[in-house]
Amino acid sequence: MIGLDVGSTTAKAAYPEGKFRIVESRNWRELTDGIAPCDIVSTGYFRKSVPHKLAITEITAAAFGAREYFPDAEVIVDIGGQDTKVIDLRNNTFLLNDKCSAGTGAFLEFTAKYLGIQVSELGDLHMRAKKAAQLNSTCGVFAISEMISRMVEGASVEDVVAGMHYSFARRVAKLIPEADRIVLIGGTVKNRGLTAALEEVAGKRFLIPPAPQTVNALGALRYSEERP
Ligand code: ADP
Repeated sequence: MIGLDVGSTTAKAAYPEGKFRIVESRNWRELTDGIAPCDIVSTGYFRKSVPHKLAITEITAAAFGAREYFPDAEVIVDIGGQDTKVIDLRNNTFLLNDKCSAGTGAFLEFTAKYLGIQVSELGDLHMRAKKAAQLNSTCGVFAISEMISRMVEGASVEDVVAGMHYSFARRVAKLIPEADRIVLIGGTVKNRGLTAALEEVAGKRFLIPPAPQTVNALGALRYSEERP
């Protein structure tokens, strides 16, 4: 069996031998080469659009995947490409923010593109910032024009990136309930500038798995193993 998470932007596969692969969602077929549909447990936004034996929700996949790294997790926050999901495992409640792009990976990608850098460079730029630029806009489009204003006034790219992460973190932190063991997952969590900003804004440390983007794919695989 494999776990296949076809998300809004990237497709991730977890293989039984412990390997993971990530491609753009439109190229998900590369992950299932030689694998029969009856050997696929799918999850993610496009879970029903790909061949599968079983399709499970991202909530179930996240719970099974996060448990592998943090068995006593209380809350899972999944900051993905086009939405942010908050799963409270203590009472099985679920909150989805897909209305505002400014708190999703798409906004980080948009910002990176605007600044002419890769999304994977945002974290290091943040860490080199001397003084985070003050950004107050809650809407993505206005946030971009605020970033331009700060740069016109003389702020460095590093300071603007850090300011952008803090305003992103303020939006996401509002969705997170009070808990001690909160796990962050999703591709955006590979950005250490963003996680640092989130910890500072929330005033607490989060649990971050070594491979945060493939947790749901791993969860789909583990689900298939536990409930064949
Ligand atoms: P989805 O499941 O919705 O497709 P993911 O959890 O795969 O989303 O997250 C995709 C987001 O992760 C991208 O929008 C981007 O912001 C971020 N991302 C992906 N790779 C990296 C990276 N190497 N460094 C920082 N951020 C990344």
